[in-house]
Amino acid sequence: MRRKPLALLLACVSAFALTGWAPAPAGDTDTAVPPNIRRAIPNADVLIDAGHGGIDGGTHFGEIKESDINLAISRKLYLLLRSRGVRAVLNRTGDYALSDDNRWHPSRSRHRRDLSQRRGLSEEIEAGLMVSVHVNWGPGGRKRGPLVLYRKGDGPSASLASFLQDALNRQQSTRYHPKAVGSFYLLNTAKVPAVIVETGFLSHPGDREMLTSRQGQTKIAEAIAQGILAYRTLSP
Ligand SMILES: [Zn+2]
Repeated sequence: MRRKPLALLLACVSAFALTGWAPAPAGDTDTAVPPNIRRAIPNADVLIDAGHGGIDGGTHFGEIKESDINLAISRKLYLLLRSRGVRAVLNRTGDYALSDDNRWHPSRSRHRRDLSQRRGLSEEIEAGLMVSVHVNWGPGGRKRGPLVLYRKGDGPSASLASFLQDALNRQQSTRYHPKAVGSFYLLNTAKVPAVIVETGFLSHPGDREMLTSRQGQTKIAEAIAQGILAYRTLSP
């Protein structure tokens, strides 16, 4: 029966939200979660999706993995938003794949299960919006800068993307426009305004320095936080 593992996941998610969002131990069961926590409805203003994880490292440059950069920026973003009174939730805190937790999805494809899990989290946590943090790659090493993706024809997501792109353009002295896309599973299935933030190009030497330094990661996280706060304040 599929519902039961989902209920278990939600129990874990609730526990994370209430206890600081630590991954559930393997083999956790319904009975391991106190009833008061099990009944709590997960709720958040912002769901931060730290892209990739586990054996799916995303793009890489030598030993540098995108998934580690995504996680570092996402953690900083989480803390910044929480410090400003925004109820943020981070969907992973360590280097593991979300598909490891996804035991109810029948697909044999680990990537598919991972995406399904990310979508499931965005639906069940009842977040106000979702930001998926990623790092870009381009051939030749010349492309640089931030790029925010949103689902074509989705007005609220386009608005969120504009605020985020503006903030990141200011941070990185670029003048790019957000990009409408039609075929991203995560964006197509999200029920709330959702964007993918490509924070910079790992293939570009300058961007790579920014993406891998603590100071650069903090500046990126601050820009994303500013964009989110502006969207929440200024959009109807
Ligand atoms: Zn990625």
